[in-house]
Amino acid sequence: MNLTEHLKRIQSLMFVINEEETITSSNLSTDPKFCNFYRSIHEDTNYINLANGAGDLQDFLITVGHNINKTWKFDIPTARALGTWVWGTNKGYDTPLEIFDKMVSLGYDLGSRTQTPYGPKMAIAVNKMVKKICGELIKDCPISFDKSKPISFYNPKTNSDAKKLKQRCESYIDSNLNKIKTTYINWISSDKTRKKILKQPHGLNKINHLDKLIRSFPRTKISCKGPFEEVQYRDINIRGLANAYFITLNYYSNFVVEGIEDKLYEVMLHEFSHYLDKNVEGINTIEQWDKVLPKIIPNETAYLLDNSPKYSLAGNLLKDLLMGEQIDYKNIKPNTIKDFTKLNIEKQHIQKWIDEWNRSTIEDRIYACNQSEKESNLRSIRNKFKKDDLTYQLTTYDFEKMFKKIVRSDDITWTLTCYAGSRFDPPPSQFINNFNQLANNKNSNTNSFDSPIQYPES
Ligand SMILES: [Zn+2]
Repeated sequence: MNLTEHLKRIQSLMFVINEEETITSSNLSTDPKFCNFYRSIHEDTNYINLANGAGDLQDFLITVGHNINKTWKFDIPTARALGTWVWGTNKGYDTPLEIFDKMVSLGYDLGSRTQTPYGPKMAIAVNKMVKKICGELIKDCPISFDKSKPISFYNPKTNSDAKKLKQRCESYIDSNLNKIKTTYINWISSDKTRKKILKQPHGLNKINHLDKLIRSFPRTKISCKGPFEEVQYRDINIRGLANAYFITLNYYSNFVVEGIEDKLYEVMLHEFSHYLDKNVEGINTIEQWDKVLPKIIPNETAYLLDNSPKYSLAGNLLKDLLMGEQIDYKNIKPNTIKDFTKLNIEKQHIQKWIDEWNRSTIEDRIYACNQSEKESNLRSIRNKFKKDDLTYQLTTYDFEKMFKKIVRSDDITWTLTCYAGSRFDPPPSQFINNFNQLANNKNSNTNSFDSPIQYPES
């Protein structure tokens, strides 16, 4: 938020100065970088004695972005800065007397009106006014969860901050669910997607079923949970969980920090994909995935553990993963390295992904190569490069940006980690091509967390 917006926000708060009722809402939010400062002023912890001459008031105004000198006098630049901070630019509150008159009209007792009105009474009143505005501004600040407090402290039924956070998350769903559904309707209606799915057995049924699932998805199937309700993920800002029946968005601290809402959108998109997959038992088959990531772990992991012959190949791969296989650059095929060079990718970047794989835990690897997760990653990655177009075809240039971490996301990281685990085989050109052949959908029978997956649920 820039200074102008910030001022507008303050302006919108001002009408309550002489009323005791609480301000309910504003479209603007408080710039998080000022939150601690506002909090300290409001709570008197980092005490600036605004009533002590005008010096501390000047410190305050300078801190929140006003270009004035600290003269200790309530001079015209100081009056203008205060008037601008409180009421906005060019509102006619630019001199000590204009500020005085305005404050009197708001009900403050400032004593007698003289040419230099900033006496002790006015200083105390300004102090009160600034503290009060800071108190309103911090209502939009991120809440930081304090682990030393009992979890019951964050019950949205009894804690107003927690309640507010939950409402914010729910209202985010209200305003974005239709957009997500439209994106998926466009995806399932597109010729590109339909052609890909039609190649599979019962492809048409699958398409029709998906179409119906998307269009009929009700608001009641998606909800938000805070740390009070989902204790195990308290360290994470936003995480999702989906099964064939529900989608849950778990929100935590810093929910309102800039950029977090984009993340929430990504999580919704990712989880919606899981929901669909679980209802159609896979849109891309394991054979299709095998051409992209030979280390792919089918969703039917329970069968693998039973040594079902049907999945013995994948079962062996899973064993490799479980044994903690390490990758070495010198074992990468020369042709693969040549192919990377064509894409402008050098050894140092390849090595980084090898390291990523080598240091990952078994749980990480299972998650990184899980078929269901890859389906969600696939869709999220496409959305990353072309917003809301789930049929987008990745270019070699996109791949280069992903690989060099110029474009980043969790979905990219997990996918390329699994790719490193398969020793970058198929080589990158083939990988991109095969990746683009996928119908950008995924499947699963397990509950899919955006964390190391937990098999199987039932
Ligand atoms: Zn997931």
